[in-house]
Amino acid sequence: MSRSTELSLFQIHDYLLALSRQLSERLDIESVLRLVLQAATALTQAEAGLVALRAPDNQVHVVAASGMPLETARQFSPLLQSMFAAGSAEPADWQHPGFRRALVRVARRHGFPFAEVIAMPFEDDGELIGVLLAFRTAGRAGFTRYELRLLGSFAEQAAIAIRNALLVQQLVQQRERMAAILASTADGIVLLDEQGRVELINPAFTALSGWFSEEAVGLHASQVLVVINEAGIPLPVPALHGGGGRQEGYLVRADRSRGPYVNVTYTPLRAGRVHRRFGTVVSVHDLSERHRLEAAKRAFIAGISHELKTPLAIIIGYAETLLRADASWDEETVRQGLETIRQEAVHLTRLVDNLLDTARLEAGGLTLALAPLQVEELLKHVVDAFRAAHPDHDFAYEPPAEPLPAVYGDRDRLRQVVHNLLSNAVKYSPPNTTVRVNVWANGDEVGFCIADEGPGIPPDRLPLIFERFYRGEEAGRTEGAGLGLYMARALVEAHGGRIWVESEEGQGATFCVALPVYAEEVVRRLRNT
Ligand code: ADP
Repeated sequence: MSRSTELSLFQIHDYLLALSRQLSERLDIESVLRLVLQAATALTQAEAGLVALRAPDNQVHVVAASGMPLETARQFSPLLQSMFAAGSAEPADWQHPGFRRALVRVARRHGFPFAEVIAMPFEDDGELIGVLLAFRTAGRAGFTRYELRLLGSFAEQAAIAIRNALLVQQLVQQRERMAAILASTADGIVLLDEQGRVELINPAFTALSGWFSEEAVGLHASQVLVVINEAGIPLPVPALHGGGGRQEGYLVRADRSRGPYVNVTYTPLRAGRVHRRFGTVVSVHDLSERHRLEAAKRAFIAGISHELKTPLAIIIGYAETLLRADASWDEETVRQGLETIRQEAVHLTRLVDNLLDTARLEAGGLTLALAPLQVEELLKHVVDAFRAAHPDHDFAYEPPAEPLPAVYGDRDRLRQVVHNLLSNAVKYSPPNTTVRVNVWANGDEVGFCIADEGPGIPPDRLPLIFERFYRGEEAGRTEGAGLGLYMARALVEAHGGRIWVESEEGQGATFCVALPVYAEEVVRRLRNT
């Protein structure tokens, strides 16, 4: 349509029809706005135009412009803002001569010599959602009543198209937001349709179950969400048509292997007034960590009662025997009996101390008595004591000729760390093998390693051994409560240090500890924690 020709009624009719079809076909907001603007300026034979929309926060945003740069069009925002504040969607209110003059002034100030402007509000359900402005140059006749009506009826159509496009935009944004949430949550999420078929799974579910979206989508929940108990028996699936439900057990992975221990919650999705069901959200929460700790705790309680009872039974047995009124014991027998009682009591005390320390550690109540100390000297004392107490093992330790830098530590607690590591080395390696201790410094750390010639630790157990109550299967016959390495790690970390293990099965185990060298900065850091 050219501006110079007069528009016939037929042309306008055809144009409006074509326009309404085009508008209803477009769903993305930008192309709808472009079309609205293009049509409005064509219908009114205007040189320039703009569309402003009201955002949910009531701010006015100029979102499209033609015949002038968007930057210039944005200069009208303050004027429009005051009109939006009044909130009228009545076209007559927007034709106020004062408002129109003000618009023209702003246009001129930015180098656009327009003389006439027409403003057409868009409404949705009686609420003002936006406005369209069309400008004409000076020297031309003003907008006719007919043009105003034409633009008014077009504005109704345009408002519907804009509202639909905005709704679509909102939906797309919501969907993207949902997708981002689903992708980032740590819980596995499975969305089922009303027939119980998988519609969507998130990456966390893939990680837990081994099911990939391509394979899982379309399958029935009974194939993808299988949870079994300890005995391998599948748990009943909560009725998909009921009010939801919960399962707790092992998730069966896509390859049919037993997966992590999980809690699975089924929540029905309902919509509308009649609460029609349209699917189910299933969330899968990984409980393996808690489950393992609980199992370890149960094993610990079983183990610890044995550990406590054995020395107590020995103590009671010896005491009763020595006290028998009908027997008299020679001095040597009495001394040996008392010695056994003493040893068992010492052992019991150590066990109880360990338990108390663990409880204190967990309650955050362990305090360190820190002072500068020489690691190589501390190692020498403990190794010498072990050499005397364990003649069936060799201990190789060469303290360095020159003193190493000092560390800032609690002597008793660090001795306990070395003691726990050496006890394990002796406990888990056969007699007549060597336990090697070496000490080193590397600038900002002083460290030591304790290597034994025992069976080592299988790779899959390496991440577990520092956990509290963890005991290897082979440890069953030896004395211990699964607390030694847990305590060692907690103590080393309380000193700002690191502890780690290197081991290949059958090649012995090497436990190493590194502590920060004594320095002002280290003192400050440790005092603050
Ligand atoms: P405990 O010795 O009381 O079982 P720890 O916390 O000291 O508890 O050790 C945890 C587990 O780590 C042990 O049960 C054992 O399986 C393994 N472990 C520790 N030290 C060694 C070692 N030197 N060689 C082989 N296995 C070890």
